[in-house]
Amino acid sequence: MSLQLFKSDVLFTQRILAVSGYYKGPLNAKWTAAVDQAEFAFDADSDKLATELGTFDKRSERNIETLLPAAQRLARQFLNAASTFPYSVRIISGTRTYLEQDALFAIGRTTQLNKKPVTKAKGGQSNHNFSIAWDVGIFDTTGKYFTGATKKEEKAYSDLAGHIAKAVDGLEWGGNWSGFPDMPHYQVATDKSLKKIRTLFEEGKPFLP
Ligand SMILES: [Zn+2]
Repeated sequence: MSLQLFKSDVLFTQRILAVSGYYKGPLNAKWTAAVDQAEFAFDADSDKLATELGTFDKRSERNIETLLPAAQRLARQFLNAASTFPYSVRIISGTRTYLEQDALFAIGRTTQLNKKPVTKAKGGQSNHNFSIAWDVGIFDTTGKYFTGATKKEEKAYSDLAGHIAKAVDGLEWGGNWSGFPDMPHYQVATDKSLKKIRTLFEEGKPFLP
C-alpha cells in the first residue's frame, strides 16, 4: 500500500495527505486515526486511477503510488503514451522523503566516496520531495538500461520527451532545463517556484493548478 512506504516519516505522510486534500488535522508527526482514514481514502482513489488508466510493471507501480493523485494520473497517461515508444520505459524513481533526499545528496560527498555525487538537491530542494516528480529509465529489448552515456542513448531520452509531449499535457521535462538538463526527469507543470512549492508543502496547503 502506497504511503505506508513513508510510515516511518509520519510528518511527511501528513503533508502529502494534507496537500492532496485528504487530511485536515495537525501536522504534528503523530499517526492518528484521522491520518489512517486519510491514507485509506488516498489509497482508494489511487486504486481508482489504476483501474481507469491501466497498470504497468511492478517498479513503475511502486513509484506511481508515491505520487499525489494528480501526478499519478499524469504518470499513468505518461506510461500509456510511452507504450508506443520503440523502447520500453519504466518509472524508476518517484517520491523521496527529505531524509531520503539527504541520504542521496550525501553519496559521493560524505558517504560512498568511491561514487560521484548523484544529485545537487538536499532534502526539500527537489520536486521529488513534494510528490510531483518521477524519473524514467529506458530499456532495450534485451532489458539493457540506457544510462544516457552514449549519443544513441541520449537521443532515446530526448525522442521519448518528444513522443510524450504529443500525447500528454501538463508535464514539464527536466531535459528542457537550461543550467542542468535532467533527461530522465518529468514533473507536473506548476506556475510556482520550487521555493513556493516547498513552503506550501510544508504548510500542508495545495500547490497544483
Ligand atoms: Zn528527477
